[in-house]
Amino acid sequence: MLPRFLFKGFLIRSDFWLKLLSLGKASGLTIFPFIFVGKQIKNKAQLLNHERIHIRQQIETLFIIFFVLYFIEYFFHRFTKKPFEAYKAISFEQEAYCNDDNLNYLNNRKPYSFIKYYKK
Ligand SMILES: [Zn+2]
Repeated sequence: MLPRFLFKGFLIRSDFWLKLLSLGKASGLTIFPFIFVGKQIKNKAQLLNHERIHIRQQIETLFIIFFVLYFIEYFFHRFTKKPFEAYKAISFEQEAYCNDDNLNYLNNRKPYSFIKYYKK
């Protein structure tokens, strides 16, 4: 059995930081090792699961590579998609959105699982 990395991020509940860092556009944002969420959150478990998937992706890509790939992908999707659709088409987001309702996902996830979402 593979060892499981249990780090879940440091949770910061702050409307100020969330609005500032996401330009007012997100209900959650992850910049390793921090997860920023607002004071009032809907679907808390699912949102935290989503952001923790990003924590795992950022660890696997040594953080910097995550952000480089994230913005390159967004940029290319923008040729054919509107901003919100381009954002949701990013492989890291695809993995997170497809699995954030499965609260057991991170316990069973194989490393670098976001790679399979590049084909979609
Ligand atoms: Zn996300």
